[in-house]
Amino acid sequence: MNQTENRRVLAFMAHPDDAEFFCAGTLIRLAEAGWEVHIATAAPGDCGTTRETRWAISARRTEEARQAAALIGAAYHCLDERDGFVVYDKPTLRKSMDLFRRVAPSLVLTHAAKDYMMDHEMVSLLARAASFLYAAPNASELPLRDGSRVPYLYYCDPVEGLDPLGRPVEPTTLLDISGQLEKKTEMLACHASQREWLRAHHGTDEYLDSMRRLAAMRGEQAGVAAAEGFVQHRGHAYPHDDLLAALFGPARNT
Ligand SMILES: [Zn+2]
Repeated sequence: MNQTENRRVLAFMAHPDDAEFFCAGTLIRLAEAGWEVHIATAAPGDCGTTRETRWAISARRTEEARQAAALIGAAYHCLDERDGFVVYDKPTLRKSMDLFRRVAPSLVLTHAAKDYMMDHEMVSLLARAASFLYAAPNASELPLRDGSRVPYLYYCDPVEGLDPLGRPVEPTTLLDISGQLEKKTEMLACHASQREWLRAHHGTDEYLDSMRRLAAMRGEQAGVAAAEGFVQHRGHAYPHDDLLAALFGPARNT
């Protein structure tokens, strides 16, 4: 691609904190390189509590997500679906399509197609469908922005790098985030509501530790301190060249 023509990236994930867990290091690198960064979640995190009402926790968690995004100058969007009830249906696809239409990304990061939780898999499908069609003039009532196109699409690692049957996922692209790990940790720590109850439950800072474990595991595969893994979508009509590797140099590209 002409890398100056449209440098907008959209991380479309299920819940507040998913982008910070799985792809924030890469988003930080893109922001540093002058990209316009958007983080969107399908749900506001309304089940992420043991004490608060769904309304109170949603307000808290979307504010935490906004703050995390703001650390790298990114915009935060929420489709306002519900935790555990994110589905691939016409109304949700319509919302997703309109989100893509507004952002007009040339690069999209989303969940692994197979992951531990169905919300993640549904968002992966929504991202795939919306990325394929959003640039078609009749796909939405919203105006078509300049630079709209079938974007580069990458699937983030599933939780622990394992599919739901426990099989390790092999990334096509590993990106060195050693220099971004501190900031990524800072972004994840914005989600204080989640960090606190996990810390109380585990007695350790499991929230941040689990993110660091995955980054270290991918880093070891790449021969660096910390990395993020992605599988690139290479179906018909999508760009096939590895944009992330071209931009930042592969920690390893398979
Ligand atoms: Zn999630």
